[in-house]
Amino acid sequence: MTQIQSTSPEDNPIINLVDRILAKAIEDRASHLYFEPQDRSLQIRVRHNGLLQTALQNMPHHTIVPTIDRLKALAQIHPERPAPQTGTFDRPSKIGRVQIAITTLPTQFGDTITAKITYTQRPQIALHQLIPDRQVFEPISRIIHSHRGLILIVGARDSGTSAIVDASLAELQQADRKIYAIDRQLTADIPGIDRILLPAAADAQTIARTIDTCLHQQPDILAIGAIDSLPVAQTALQAVAQGCLVFATIAAATAGEAISNLIALGVPAAQLYTATIGIIAQKSLKQLCNDCRLPQEPDRLPLAQLGNTILSLTDRSSYYRAHTLDPIAIERAKQSGKLCSQCQGSGYRGEIGIYEVLTIVDRLKPTILHGDAESIDLAAQETGMRSFLDLAIDLFRQGKIAFSEVQRCAPPKTLLQDRLANAQTYPDAEASDLDRAESLEAALYWKQQALQAKSECEQLLAELEHYQQETDEFEQRIKQSRSQVEQRTRAEIALHLLSVVDVIELARTSIKPQTDREAAIQKGYSMLENKMLSSIKEIGVRVTESKGRKFEAHLHEVIKEVSTHEHPAGTVIDELKRGYTLGDRVLRLAQVNVAVASTYN
Ligand SMILES: [Zn+2]
Repeated sequence: MTQIQSTSPEDNPIINLVDRILAKAIEDRASHLYFEPQDRSLQIRVRHNGLLQTALQNMPHHTIVPTIDRLKALAQIHPERPAPQTGTFDRPSKIGRVQIAITTLPTQFGDTITAKITYTQRPQIALHQLIPDRQVFEPISRIIHSHRGLILIVGARDSGTSAIVDASLAELQQADRKIYAIDRQLTADIPGIDRILLPAAADAQTIARTIDTCLHQQPDILAIGAIDSLPVAQTALQAVAQGCLVFATIAAATAGEAISNLIALGVPAAQLYTATIGIIAQKSLKQLCNDCRLPQEPDRLPLAQLGNTILSLTDRSSYYRAHTLDPIAIERAKQSGKLCSQCQGSGYRGEIGIYEVLTIVDRLKPTILHGDAESIDLAAQETGMRSFLDLAIDLFRQGKIAFSEVQRCAPPKTLLQDRLANAQTYPDAEASDLDRAESLEAALYWKQQALQAKSECEQLLAELEHYQQETDEFEQRIKQSRSQVEQRTRAEIALHLLSVVDVIELARTSIKPQTDREAAIQKGYSMLENKMLSSIKEIGVRVTESKGRKFEAHLHEVIKEVSTHEHPAGTVIDELKRGYTLGDRVLRLAQVNVAVASTYN
């Protein structure tokens, strides 16, 4: 779109400027205007067909306060109050009544203002134009042509859910049908439909009472706007019980989330299951500009983020990404005449709606009664519902959207929870602000990646610890078995040496020396025997001490019991053959004579 030109000041330059900005935005059918004070200047951006573009940049610092005050005055908002405020005003225009809803948010540089522009006489888009895909249109058409029941239209706030309701109402409108539409914001007029406009700040009780009043008029079809409180949900169910077909919107990411949100509000699951006939979840994806899109290398896509979905990327030619230029590059391209005339360097052209259509069938009952949002979505996919992710992958394969838009359709569970938590922390965050949502999404994506990496690290650490433990145990076992082997080997050597000692001992004791030579030989045997014994002691063998000690069955073998008074009973009185031990092990029992109590007194 062309930029708004600032001209020379007239009577009141600020009033004139604001008027011109609004007139230009309305002429271009913009949906939002953003007045954003910066450190030293005021920036004004405009959203048109879902795309955000700069309308005026670097307006002098002294224009900030009067511009913001002028908008507040138009919307009859208190100029000094710092808290977030809302207000609306009408704007005359050639294209019928236009309503502008102002929201203020205090920032460090002053109040930012979001102006949402609603056109009452926008050209009515028929349902089949809104949803050209026949595979998607047919189940939706079946659901909305039911005679009775609750139809939930699910999406982010301002995402286009009301366009589906309006198109459905227009299609259902007949002379013999009474249709009421209740809403808190101005929407397009549809012939034959009674619109009841409630104040934006209407509380739940007021909305519920209004629905109740409508019910007294015996309507056939009722569009009740957003269900965001239990009283509104209850009157919706009451309307179904009275035989109405009820359309309601709900802010949620998926059909399953819509159901679990309603149950969380306090709606009994069984009642919800009985009343609901279908859920249409809507999501808008940015469409690539055909004229300047760039080929996308599939190798560089973070496919892992899509979880279990296997995206086969064989045909490389049909994937594209946006050719988005920064403001400096746009200026340069403009000067050299190379700026894409279709998208002005944004890389995108309009939006594509994708729809998850959940028809409530018996098979879904147990999951709706007991399951969480994710399991409801999975169960719905098993009944044939095509998921946002599948639909987005199709569009990506057709070269219509970038991979970043596919990623937006595959939010992991934790990511959803994080987003919910963030939404609760910043209730005034503009849900339709795609840029902010995207940077939030990116931040959440990286947070998710970081968390995943962290959990992988933790898992690796745990594995490492486990292996360390196993290694330690193995080492222990080796040490143990090594010492067992050692001990066994030593025992074998010791036993072998001991048998030699026995032979030497036998030889020594068998000699009754008569001559010096024989005495010398005996002495030689004795020395050899002692040397052998000291060697055996060195490998840990101990000679069992026996004589004069108490008899012990594991050390001694009784050769003879001797009846005597000289020693207490059970005392070893003679050792016939030495016993040996090695550590805990007894190599050989000592052969002993043991004293027993004398029977002769
Ligand atoms: Zn382009």
